[in-house]
Amino acid sequence: MSRDKLACHTIGGKVIKLKSHSLVGVPQILESRYNAAEIEPKWQQQWSVSEIDVTSEPDERPKFYALSMFPYPSGNLHMGHVRNYVITDVIARLKRMQGYRVLHPMGWDAFGLPAENAAIDRGIPPAQWTNQNIAQMRQQLQQLGLSIDWHREVATCSPEYYKWTQYLFIKFLEAGLAYQKEAAVNWDPIDQTVLANEQVDSEGRSWRSGAIVERKLLKQWFLKITDYAEQLLQNLDQLDGWPERVKTMQANWIGKSVGAYLEFPVVGMEEKIAVFTTRPDTVYGVTYVVLAPEHPLTPQVTTDQQQEAVAAFIEEIKNESEIERTAEDKPKRGIPTGGKAINPFNGEEIPILIADYVLYEYGTGAVMGVPAHDTRDFKFAREKNLPIKTVIVPVGAIRESPLQDAYTEPGIMVNSGQFDGVPSAEGKTKIIEYAEQQGYGKAKIQYRLRDWLISRQRYWGCPIPVIHCPSCGIVPVPEPDLPVELPEQVELSGRGGSPLAHLDNWVNVSCPSCGEPAKRETDTMDTFIDSSWYFLRYSDASNNNTCFESHKVNDWMPVDQYVGGIEHAILHLLYSRFFTKVLRDRGLLNFDEPFQRLLTQGMVQNVAYKNLTTGRYIPLEEVDPEDPKDPETGEKLNVFYEKMSKSKYNGVDPQQVLSKYGADTARMFILFKAPPEKDLEWDDADVEGQFRFLNRVWSLVTSYNPNSSTSPAEKLTKTEKDLRRAIHTAIAEISEDLQGDYQFNTAISELMKLSNALKDAQCQDSPIYQEGIETLVLLIAPFAPHIAEELWHQLGKTESIHHQPWPQVDKSALTVEEITLVIQIMGKTRGTIQVPANSDKAALEKCATESELAQRYLAGKEIKKVIVVPNKLVNFVVAK
Ligand SMILES: [Zn+2]
Repeated sequence: MSRDKLACHTIGGKVIKLKSHSLVGVPQILESRYNAAEIEPKWQQQWSVSEIDVTSEPDERPKFYALSMFPYPSGNLHMGHVRNYVITDVIARLKRMQGYRVLHPMGWDAFGLPAENAAIDRGIPPAQWTNQNIAQMRQQLQQLGLSIDWHREVATCSPEYYKWTQYLFIKFLEAGLAYQKEAAVNWDPIDQTVLANEQVDSEGRSWRSGAIVERKLLKQWFLKITDYAEQLLQNLDQLDGWPERVKTMQANWIGKSVGAYLEFPVVGMEEKIAVFTTRPDTVYGVTYVVLAPEHPLTPQVTTDQQQEAVAAFIEEIKNESEIERTAEDKPKRGIPTGGKAINPFNGEEIPILIADYVLYEYGTGAVMGVPAHDTRDFKFAREKNLPIKTVIVPVGAIRESPLQDAYTEPGIMVNSGQFDGVPSAEGKTKIIEYAEQQGYGKAKIQYRLRDWLISRQRYWGCPIPVIHCPSCGIVPVPEPDLPVELPEQVELSGRGGSPLAHLDNWVNVSCPSCGEPAKRETDTMDTFIDSSWYFLRYSDASNNNTCFESHKVNDWMPVDQYVGGIEHAILHLLYSRFFTKVLRDRGLLNFDEPFQRLLTQGMVQNVAYKNLTTGRYIPLEEVDPEDPKDPETGEKLNVFYEKMSKSKYNGVDPQQVLSKYGADTARMFILFKAPPEKDLEWDDADVEGQFRFLNRVWSLVTSYNPNSSTSPAEKLTKTEKDLRRAIHTAIAEISEDLQGDYQFNTAISELMKLSNALKDAQCQDSPIYQEGIETLVLLIAPFAPHIAEELWHQLGKTESIHHQPWPQVDKSALTVEEITLVIQIMGKTRGTIQVPANSDKAALEKCATESELAQRYLAGKEIKKVIVVPNKLVNFVVAK
C-alpha cells in the first residue's frame, strides 16, 4: 500500500531558511495611491520568503498560543471562517508586538462524511476531493494575510497524523477507557451509519442527511468519558476566561444530580426494580413505577392478559429515536404490564407500566411515578387515570387542596408515615438514611453524561487499530505496525454499512499475538476524536517518532486564546477537555485544561428576503432593496437579517470582497462592524467606509516626508502637546481595548480619532508629528498588516513592522494641566473657574465649594446636594 497516493499533502510552499528575520530586498516604493491588489501579494510573498511567521524556539519571552478552531475543508472559505481567523490573527500579531513568542497554527479537520458523499456523487476518491479542497482553502487563507506558521499545518486525514490518533486510541484501550458493547444506536437509514446523540436534532433527524433516525442494536466502540464526569464538571471553575454560557451548557450536558437509589420489590417474584430519584422525600407519593420497554424485567412482569398489548407497544416504538421518545412537547405514551411492585416504604402495591419516555440506557432504565410532585408524571397520571397522592404541602398550608398541577416546590412532608411534618429538604436525607438501614436504598450521584460512542460504519475516518482474534479476543495493533492505513480502491456506495468490511484482503490478517487467522476492526472513529487532540499536535507537528514531545506540549499549552463558533460549546470542547485529562493521567502532558480563554465569535449575517406565502427565499441580486418584491409573483417580501447561507441566498463570497477592496479592508470591516462575540450584519456601505479610512491613512502617511522632521525643541508648543496627548491617548485606549475582551471595534474608532488628530495638526515638521505618524502605522499593523508594512517601509524603515515593539504609553503626555470648570447653582451657570485637569470628584467639589464664585452665590443657603461631572461642571443643589 503506497502511502503517498492517499496522503494529504499538508505543507504547502517551499521552505527557505534564513538566519535573520529582516526582510529580503528593499521593497519598491509605489506611487502614492493605495493599491491593495499590488501591495498585498507583494508583502505576503515577502513574509513567506523571510519566514516571518515561523514559530520561535523557546527563549526568555513568555509564550502565547493563539488558535482558531480548524476548518472542515469543504473547499470554499465563507465569511464565518474569515471572521474567525481574522480575530485570531489580530491577537497573534498584537501579542508578537507585545513581546511574546507566538504559536499561531492552522490545520484541517479533514475526515468525515462530506468527502465520502462527494466521492459517491462524483466518483472522486475522498482523499483527492479533500486534498483539492485543502489546497484551495489554504490559498484563500493566505490571501487574508494571516500570520500562520504553515510549517505546522496538520490534516487529520494524513497517515502522519492519524497514526498518532490510533496511538492515542491504544492508550485509551490500555487504560480501560475504550471498550466495545452492544448498544441501541441511532441509525441513519440514508447514510447507513450510526450517529452520536448529538448528531440527531430535536426532531429526531440526522444532522447531515435529515432522515428520521431509527434505533438499532449493534456492537460499538465507546470511550469512557463518564469516568471523568466529576472532573469535567469541577474544573469548569478554573476556566475564568470562558463565556459563562458555555460553562453552563457544559455543566448541563454533564448533568450531575444528587439523589437516591431505591429498590421496589416485584409482587410474586424475587426481582427488584431499581430506580434513581432526586426526590426521595416524595417516595410515599409513588403511585406506579415505569420500566423502559427494553428493560429485561419487562417480559417477566407482563401478565398473560397484557402480553399482546405490550408486544404491540414495543413494536410501535421500536424505531423511534431517543430524542423523539423524550421530547418535552410530545405526549408520553405508555401501557400497564399487569405486573405489580411494592413501595417498600409503606407496603402499598402499585402498578408496573412501560412507557416510551423511559430509556434503558439511561440510569437504571426504570423510574418511580410521583404524579403529585413531578410535572411529567402529573400529565402522564392524568392521561392514564393513575392515582395522584399528595405527600408534600407548602409550608403553612392549612390543608391539602386538590392539585391543578404538580407541586414541585419544597414544603412539608405529609401522608408519609413517620416522616410527617419533616421539611422536604431535610426529608431527602432522612429517607435515604432510613432506606439504607432497611436495606432497600442508598445515596447516589448520577450524571446525564453517557459514554462516548465513537464507532462509525464509514470509510473516510481513522481506522480503529485493533484486531479481533478468536483465541485472544481484542488485540491492539502493535505500535510499529501503525498506522493502520485506509486501503485505496474502495467501492463507495453509501449503503450497506462499513465499506471496509467488504475488503477481504484488508480484513483478514494474522493475530499479532498468536499468529492465527484473525480479522481487523472495520469501524472507523468519530471525527470528533481527530479534533480532540489536534491542538496538542501543533506543538510538535512534524514529529515522526511520537504524537508530541512532552516538553514541547507542556511549553506551548494550554492554548492562551481559543477562537471559534458557539456551535462547538459542548461536544468539541468537552471531548478536548476529556482527552487532555486522560493524556495527563497517562503521563503524556502535565496540565488539566487545554483552553485558557475562549472567545465564541458571533455569526456573520446578511439581509435575507423571504416570500412568506410561498416560504421561498429570493436571491439578493433579484431583489430591489428599496422595494423588495418577489420577481415572480410581485408579492411584498419579508426582510430580515439571517446567518449567511446557501439556502437563504444571502451569502457574500469573501473572494469578491478581497478582489474589490483587498484583505486589509475586509479585515477592518469585520473587526469594526461589531464586537467579536456579537453577530455581525453585513453592510456594503460600511465596507466602503473602511476602504475610505485606509485610503485616508495612506495619503496621510505617504504625504509625510520623514526627512522634514526638525530636531526636538526644549519645550513643546500647545499644538505639539495636544497632538502628543492624542497619540498617547490612542495607545492607552487601544491597548486597553485589546486586553482580555478584545474590543476591536472601539480600538478601530480610536485609530480613526488619531488619524483625524494628525490630519488637523498644524505641526508637520515637528518630531511629535513624526511620532504620531509612526505610532498610527504601528497601531494599525495587527488589523491591516499589509498597508501597515508598506507604509512603514515608505517611512524609510527596513525591518518588518510586525517585529516592532507595541507602542508604550507615556503617562505624562496624557495630563492636561488645567481645565475650565463650570459652576452651577440649581442647574444655572454662574461662572467658571480653572482647576487641575483630571482631578477626582472630591477634589473638584472642594475646589468649587471654596471658590469665591460659589461663596458669593451660596451665602446663607443650605447645600442639599453637590453634583460633580468630572472635567466639566459642579452643580450645587440648595434648599429653597
Ligand atoms: Zn490471537
